[in-house]
Amino acid sequence: MSILSISFLELCMHMIWPVSCPVCGAVGRLLCPSCLGDLMKNPPLPRCLWCSGTVPCGTHADTVPVHAGSLYGGDARRVILMLKHGGYRALGLRLGRALAEVFPVPALDVLVPVPLHRRSPRRYNQAEAIAGGLGEVWGVDVWSAARWSYDVRTRMGMDAAGRRALPHDVFEVDGQIAGLRIALVDDVCTTGSTLARLAEACRERGATLVGAFVSARTPSPWVLYPISTT
Ligand SMILES: [Zn+2]
Ligand SMILES: [Zn+2]
Repeated sequence: MSILSISFLELCMHMIWPVSCPVCGAVGRLLCPSCLGDLMKNPPLPRCLWCSGTVPCGTHADTVPVHAGSLYGGDARRVILMLKHGGYRALGLRLGRALAEVFPVPALDVLVPVPLHRRSPRRYNQAEAIAGGLGEVWGVDVWSAARWSYDVRTRMGMDAAGRRALPHDVFEVDGQIAGLRIALVDDVCTTGSTLARLAEACRERGATLVGAFVSARTPSPWVLYPISTT
C-alpha cells in the first residue's frame, strides 16, 4: 500500500503508532495487497446458515448460504482483530472489496450489515465497512436497516454459549425492507447465531435472503439452538 492510498486519519495514526502488516509484518503497511490476496485465494465452500452443512442443504430448503473469504484463524484472525480493535476502518473496506472479487455479484437489492452492539465503544461498524467495500465493487447499496433491540451482551454474556442462545427478538429491522432481496454482511461467522437471528428478523419483515457474506468463518460446524425453519 502506498502512503497516498491511506486516509489522513490513518496517516496521523501511523505517525503516532506505526502500523505493520498483520500477515507478513512489513512495517508501514496496513495490509499488503499480496497478503490480502493470499488471504482469500482459497475461499472455503459455502455453508448453510441453519445447520452449517453444505449447500444446497438437504435439510433446509430455505437455506441461507454463508459465503466466506477464508477460514477464521491465523492470518485471517489477526487481520480481523486489527480491523475491530486497531481503529482501521479502511481495512474493512479493503476486505469487502477483496470479497467482492472472490464472489460473483448475486442478484440482490441491498446489503445489510450486522449492526454494532448497543453502547459499543467502537467508532465505526466493521461489518458496515466490509459491506461498503462489497457494495462499491458490486454496485449495490448498503443499508444499515437493523439494530440490536437491547444490550444483549450484558443480558446474555459475550461467550460462545451466550451468543448461541441469542433470543429471537434481538434485532429490530426497518419495515421498509419488505420485498427486497438482501444479503447480510459481517466480519466473521463463528457460532452462526448472530447471522441466523438477523436473517430471521429480516424474513419476518418480508425480505428475501439471498445469502450472507463474511470475511472469514469458523472451520468448525456450528450448532444453533432450534430455529423455526424447516
Ligand atoms: Zn503483508
Ligand atoms: Zn441446513
